[in-house]
Amino acid sequence: MALQIVTIPCLADNYAYLAHDPATGATAVVDVPDAAPVLAALRARGWTLSDVLLTHHHADHVQGLEGLLAQAPARVIGAAADAHRLPPLDLAVADGDTLRIGHEIGHVLAVPGHTLGHVAYHFPDSGAVFTADSLMALGCGRVFEGTMEQMHASLARLAALPPDTLVFSGHEYTAANARFAATIDPDNPRLAARIREVEQTRAENRPTVPTTLGEELATNPFLRAHDGAIRARLGMADAPEAEVFAEIRRRKDRF
Ligand code: ZN
Ligand code: FE
Repeated sequence: MALQIVTIPCLADNYAYLAHDPATGATAVVDVPDAAPVLAALRARGWTLSDVLLTHHHADHVQGLEGLLAQAPARVIGAAADAHRLPPLDLAVADGDTLRIGHEIGHVLAVPGHTLGHVAYHFPDSGAVFTADSLMALGCGRVFEGTMEQMHASLARLAALPPDTLVFSGHEYTAANARFAATIDPDNPRLAARIREVEQTRAENRPTVPTTLGEELATNPFLRAHDGAIRARLGMADAPEAEVFAEIRRRKDRF
């Protein structure tokens, strides 16, 4: 039985997610930008928190943890590499590790770039991956700590997951990402269609997440550094893929 996943808007534009295993009642939250909306979502469904999955140490992903644990004690899981700057962890994980939420098995993927210790959590049986500030809908996180090569390699690993995988990212940045994507890949009809969809969704104040990996592969410029039209437009027809990615990322930083 697949995880039931609930999207919880937090702060101005963050997302936390509940992942509930109906077979056992186990319930994880992925990132805790703010305790109150997570507690409200748990109460509304009568679910008891069992686990907290942290993707990275930035305040907008962990600052609600203490308040949450005070009312809903749970096992806290995060990257061993960043244990020194994450809240206290009950389980420190690294690339390739697996963990269980009830009967569901999650795989830890190290996806450095935005931060050095950033991890994603992939649940293959549910077809879901929690990517926070690595792969985002029509975008990717800013490269603060790692190198462009690291971020490119991290996105390539995520891109290799099954295309029907649902991608749960950490922020509602999709409308701004769409405006930028249009400047990089203006002749892509699927991108044009998606931009109209994103505008409609946001006009109705609904989340644009999750998205599917297949949709990202077709429309997210940060996964399309191999694309001939994009390369031609950037004047980088023969450049290595990581360099094309880096150029797109730099342009987004200035956008
Ligand atoms: Zn971040
Ligand atoms: Fe963030």
